[in-house]
Amino acid sequence: MATTEKTALNARLIQRTEVAPGLLIVQVAPEGWELPEFRPGQYTVLALPGSAPRCEGSDSEANERDPAKLIKRAYSITSSTVGRDYLEFYLTLVRSGELTPRLFALGVGDALYLGPKITGMFTLESVPEDQHVMLFATGTGLAPYMSMIRSSLAEHRHRRVAIVHGAYHSWDLGYRAELATLARVCPHLTYLPLVSETADEPVPWRGLTGFCQDVWTSGVIDERWGFRPTPENTHAFLCGHPGMIQGMLELLKESGFVEHSKKSPGQIHLEKYW
Ligand SMILES: Cc1cc2nc3c(=O)[nH]c(=O)nc-3n(C[C@H](O)[C@H](O)[C@H](O)COP(=O)(O)OP(=O)(O)OC[C@H]3O[C@@H](n4cnc5c(N)ncnc54)[C@H](O)[C@@H]3O)c2cc1C
Repeated sequence: MATTEKTALNARLIQRTEVAPGLLIVQVAPEGWELPEFRPGQYTVLALPGSAPRCEGSDSEANERDPAKLIKRAYSITSSTVGRDYLEFYLTLVRSGELTPRLFALGVGDALYLGPKITGMFTLESVPEDQHVMLFATGTGLAPYMSMIRSSLAEHRHRRVAIVHGAYHSWDLGYRAELATLARVCPHLTYLPLVSETADEPVPWRGLTGFCQDVWTSGVIDERWGFRPTPENTHAFLCGHPGMIQGMLELLKESGFVEHSKKSPGQIHLEKYW
């Protein structure tokens, strides 16, 4: 890589955990600078230059990239806001993508660019203290919720929190052990992992099946909480596959929930990855 690129690479990969093929948890530490304060649910930018190699199994690029130009993308932070030695991210490989095949080729100790500005409105700040929260995710859409849970679960013991995490296969359910353990020790956390492609499971999947929308319509959360989540008592967060976001949005609106915006407060909060 040329000298100009090296000066731009201001961080190092300090841990790399493969959850399943095409799913990675990475920890990135700033080099020679301090991470700013941030709020759980926010995101920053990761980047690599066009000269960075692509991982095995990714598609080859039709057009050559400018070797010096940084390819930048937004990623939600999964780590707690308390410890700030590094930031953690949960990444899915887009085989035809520009950046993710390069991120997946990184090893521990490799340099990359970490955006020093952390931003985003997908946080619990606009949720009143006395409201419960339902966090719906598919795939790496779980990322912002991990930061919320790790940062503030212990502070709000009166608040019910339900995490609904959908994946094709049980082995794609990143953070499953951590969330299952937290749900066992914190009764106010309900963890609902669900799998859609059950025929592929090596041993029969005994948990919930289908999509996030099925969890909502079947009333599993009502049963687990002992009451019906309504716009009066609960806020809903949606992050992940655009189909899930659209489907959940329609169902929640039918139940009287309203999409939140800065100008007009509501109970549905969205983060669209693409
Ligand atoms: C606020 C925000 C936060 C984000 N946080 C995360 C995160 O925590 N983890 C993460 O993996 N991605 C996250 N993304 C998506 C990320 O920014 C990139 O778009 C993604 O990594 C693909 O980059 P790429 O350069 O490899 O693909 P590109 O060459 O940019 O191709 C983009 C295409 O990839 C597909 N795509 C993008 N994201 C995904 C995905 N997560 N799963 C499946 N297909 C996808 C879509 O078809 C999209 O049109 C976030 C995006 C936003 C806007």
